[in-house]
Amino acid sequence: MIDKLKTLARMQKFDDEIGRCRELQRILPQQLHTLIQDVETATAKVNEANNVKTSILARQNELENDIRHNNELALKYGNQLADIKTNKEYKALNSEIANLKQKNGDIESMLLELMETETEIKKQLTIYQKDLDAANKRKSDKEDDLRQQIAELDGKIENLRNQRNELAHALPVALVKQYGHLIKSKNNQAVAYNSNGACGGCGFIIRPQIRIELELKKKIHSCESCGRLLMNKFTEEELTETTE
Ligand SMILES: [Zn+2]
Repeated sequence: MIDKLKTLARMQKFDDEIGRCRELQRILPQQLHTLIQDVETATAKVNEANNVKTSILARQNELENDIRHNNELALKYGNQLADIKTNKEYKALNSEIANLKQKNGDIESMLLELMETETEIKKQLTIYQKDLDAANKRKSDKEDDLRQQIAELDGKIENLRNQRNELAHALPVALVKQYGHLIKSKNNQAVAYNSNGACGGCGFIIRPQIRIELELKKKIHSCESCGRLLMNKFTEEELTETTE
């Protein structure tokens, strides 16, 4: 009987490992998705900041051209002043020159504001670029490994399942069925161990008589509450030593 108990415990170890693999099948693709997503998000931010920077530079060029144009016009008007005959015309041209200078003053203020914005956006761009570099590094460091791990999980589970089924051959069919049913219905845990006098699966207190029987290892018990196969825990050595 003790061999059957050990076999059940070994089968549960394989199912524990299968459970961990299934958890990885859930988590690893999420991690991969996050890696890719982070690069996309960081790239979008860099692109957006670059677009803002480009439009600021274009606007600066435009305004500088306006200043140049106004200066040329003001110079031309200034040269014309010498040829003016009437006082009225002289005043009009002078006020036109003053107007152009005023305009250029306003444009200069706008340029200063734009320069501040440009400095700000350059700072942001440096930060975004750093984020992007970091995201790219994380991706290139981990992506291949993650993809490989994900690709290998199916085979790993298959392998574990085969090893577990191999063990099951040594058990009566009814017990294997019971085990399989419990794995499915009891959160991947068919075997529960006596944990300080309580069922390790559900916490139900084990009756003293049953506790004594668990010590003897002469019978397969089920938890009276959750129905899991109940036994005292074996040591690693007990589980690895070959059964005769
Ligand atoms: Zn229980």
